[in-house]
Amino acid sequence: MTTSYLSIDVPFEFRHTCWFCGEPYYESHAFMAKPNYDGQSEPIMVPCCQECFSFSNDIKVSSLDILRDKVKEKLHKKYQKHLQIGVNWTKEELEDSEFEGKALEGFRESGWKMFEIAKERVNYRGWAVSIDGIPVEGLTTAFQFEFDGIVYTSLNHAVTQLATAYAIPQPYLEQVIELVGRDKMAYALRFCKTSYGYSAAEREASLASLRALLAEEKANKSEEKKVSKRGRKVPISEIKELILFRTMISPYAIQWALEHGATTLHALAQQEDAFFEHFNQESELTAFTYFNALQVYLEQRENDHEWAETSDPNKHLF
Ligand SMILES: [Zn+2]
Repeated sequence: MTTSYLSIDVPFEFRHTCWFCGEPYYESHAFMAKPNYDGQSEPIMVPCCQECFSFSNDIKVSSLDILRDKVKEKLHKKYQKHLQIGVNWTKEELEDSEFEGKALEGFRESGWKMFEIAKERVNYRGWAVSIDGIPVEGLTTAFQFEFDGIVYTSLNHAVTQLATAYAIPQPYLEQVIELVGRDKMAYALRFCKTSYGYSAAEREASLASLRALLAEEKANKSEEKKVSKRGRKVPISEIKELILFRTMISPYAIQWALEHGATTLHALAQQEDAFFEHFNQESELTAFTYFNALQVYLEQRENDHEWAETSDPNKHLF
């Protein structure tokens, strides 16, 4: 029997601490990779609390970070009810609640504490792993997903746990997340909770209305973008003067058009009064000349798309 092993370094402040969850030390788990892709020759000793020690002994994985994630998932599962206290209550609500009877009073007094302990344990980040001062490379936390102050090992793990906590069918929550994106978990949960029902037909109807809503939001956004592109004041130095059909198009007229979103003949006609009001301050002749020139310019842009896209010296401003 071999007695040879490696121990992960334990910084002073973490002596007597479980690497997985931060609880007091009980015993070290002798980790051997399985499958052993990297040809690990000796067990690596990882400090554990009693609970994480018994969890890790049942887990066969190829690396320490996967072991950590599996232990965390077991903690999540075991303490799901405690973690759920934070979903269902706030600290204040729990304190103000009027539970009666011994068991329920006990819940009121210890409930939040249980939630906080469970949360600290699943969120515990351990410390950077090194052996004899040499960092162990390749341990990743890249897949972790945090929601509502709780860390999950992956998005998939979060969906599984949250679907249970919120009593939502898991495939339904998955579909909604897929539509709205992983960064909108709160929105997805709200949407699922306010769905009319969870039968196949009801879910399909809700998903269809969500798709329509998202498409509409997207359209609104791109419309807003267009407006904001038009409605900006471009410095006069960036606008090129040009001559079309012997008409000189003033950069000042173009500047006004860009600033007011009057970049089509139709839009210009709607703002004709405003245009004249502005340029009449210089002179009526200026206003008339500028307006006429701008019409020529916009007409040319509308009639000859190729010219507008390639030859207009101000094409990048529209
Ligand atoms: Zn532990």
